[in-house]
Amino acid sequence: TQSHESFVQFGKKHVTAGLGRVVDAVLTKGEGSYVTLGDGRKMLDFTCGIGVTNLGHCHPKISKAAADQCMKVVHVQCSIAFNQPYLELIERLLPMMPHPSLDSFFFWNSGSEAVEAGIKMARAFTGRQNIINMQGAYHGRTMGAMAVTKSKTIYSAGFHPLMPGAYTLPFPYWHQLGVDPSTPPSELSEMCLSQLNLLLAQASAPKDTAAIIIEPVLGEGGYVPAPPEFLHGLREICDKHGIMLIIDEVQCGFGRTGKNYYTEYSGVRPDILLSAKGLANGFPLSAVISRKELTDKLPAGSMGGTYAGNAVSCAAAVASADAMKEEKILDNVNARSTELFAALNALRTDADAAVARAVLDVRGKGLMVAVEFASPTGTGPYDRFADAGVPAKLASRVAARCVEKGMLILTTSVYEVVRFIPPLNVSKEDLAEGVRIFEEAVREVVK
Ligand code: PMP
Repeated sequence: TQSHESFVQFGKKHVTAGLGRVVDAVLTKGEGSYVTLGDGRKMLDFTCGIGVTNLGHCHPKISKAAADQCMKVVHVQCSIAFNQPYLELIERLLPMMPHPSLDSFFFWNSGSEAVEAGIKMARAFTGRQNIINMQGAYHGRTMGAMAVTKSKTIYSAGFHPLMPGAYTLPFPYWHQLGVDPSTPPSELSEMCLSQLNLLLAQASAPKDTAAIIIEPVLGEGGYVPAPPEFLHGLREICDKHGIMLIIDEVQCGFGRTGKNYYTEYSGVRPDILLSAKGLANGFPLSAVISRKELTDKLPAGSMGGTYAGNAVSCAAAVASADAMKEEKILDNVNARSTELFAALNALRTDADAAVARAVLDVRGKGLMVAVEFASPTGTGPYDRFADAGVPAKLASRVAARCVEKGMLILTTSVYEVVRFIPPLNVSKEDLAEGVRIFEEAVREVVK
């Protein structure tokens, strides 16, 4: 048998260099909050495969539901017939919707495909072309989704031209407005909403604007929740001009923020809601949700895809929705979130001045939580907020140190941000262990 190391070398030779990797290892097993690597290392997984294995790796009921479905029917092409779990999933999702108007569903495989479908639908519903997107947002790697992705140039550099008609608005995040980090969210919202009115007056006329697409909690842009008043403001402007509001909850939806969908906190009505990632706990599945009154306008055959709404993925998603309810997952999210925020916020006033100085911000919602570090002059995009007493590249160094210590964790955005995406059913003990590893890593790295 080949050694783990030789497999890793084989992978490095034959797998495209276009993929990045947190660990050069084969991940051979996942169980709950832990994964095992081919070299025998067992690690705490606070990435959840970027917010996907939300109920832990290989949740027994979800894996069993998928296995059972495999013995019934695997592939039912969505343009040929319905599949049973597809319809059961709609039954489960209807009461989870953040607004009662959302009653028309279409399942696809990935978040990017859901975004493409959302853009196409908004164009079809309005007869308009342009899409307004948010600075810092990530929506995917396909041509349309990439055109509205504004979190990092690595996703699009060298791949232009992208879908035309994308216009960008700042997100209510202090970095993007060049203001002080302590600026209240209501002020940030006001600034961005007036920018939107300007954009509609100067660049993309309402009669040309099909949709505004927003990630209500910036994911790849730094884990920044949109203030509810911002979402209300967007809704109002959309209503005034007949513009569709597309809410992308691919990363923040399905329990991640402590509600089924983050949009529920504001009660704002999306015209199109996108969900994926945690939806099927690791099986490829995304949902494009709108209202029947609109989707009835779509000609039969205008939507579809060979694998769209796969029966095994749908069965896994039904089991995920059931497990969320039966295991009172949202209660766990909220209890663990309080503990996580308390522990991370304590670092801001830590007795070690180097630690306290380094931790600039702790933010997020539920179990979508980030620590932003200060960055020294010359390394951050916004030097104005630099702290010369802080070492460079803290986020990636802290994350790498966590990996060495046995925890998978990710950075995010072009700023110095480490993000916590633990499983939504993480135990109090495992969460505390993750925090302990993180704290130890911060202490060592800021020295
Ligand atoms: N939207 C958001 C908010 C995301 O976080 C992601 C994935 N990180 C996507 C869309 C794209 O999803 P996928 O990678 O499944 O295409």
